[in-house]
Amino acid sequence: MPTPRVGVGVDVHPLDTGRPMALAGLMWPDEPAGCGGHSDGDVAAHACCDALLSAAGLGDLGAVFGTDRPEWSGASGVRLLSECARLVGEAGYRIGNIAVQVIGERPKIGPRRREAEAALGTACDASVSVSGTTTDGLGLTGRGEGVAAVATALIVPR
Ligand code: MG
Repeated sequence: MPTPRVGVGVDVHPLDTGRPMALAGLMWPDEPAGCGGHSDGDVAAHACCDALLSAAGLGDLGAVFGTDRPEWSGASGVRLLSECARLVGEAGYRIGNIAVQVIGERPKIGPRRREAEAALGTACDASVSVSGTTTDGLGLTGRGEGVAAVATALIVPR
């Protein structure tokens, strides 16, 4: 029987006032700050990407979308996730599922959880579950300096 493989991904971005918030495949127009960085800063999508690449033994976002693929610079998180799913398929696997947890004081994931699951799931054509948690005010996410996400992915040889 083919052995399933798991992968892990973590991402953190700083919060910048006045930047649009892109998170878990959605825009959050009511948020006063968004995630900074060279991309749209979607930590949840980026964590999913790294979990997929990790599971397939393909490295990480920096290695796959690095300077030798400039066409990907500034790509949205969901676009990157679609491409990671394609690479995993090309490597001979299908995605079982991805689970991602967003860590931060805001935005609150709960009210838009299903919407986020649909957005990320559509991007990678797989089941994605999204959840949220806080650190009770501790650390960089608790102080509102940034948002973090951790993801696991399960893939199965085809
Ligand atoms: Mg990132």
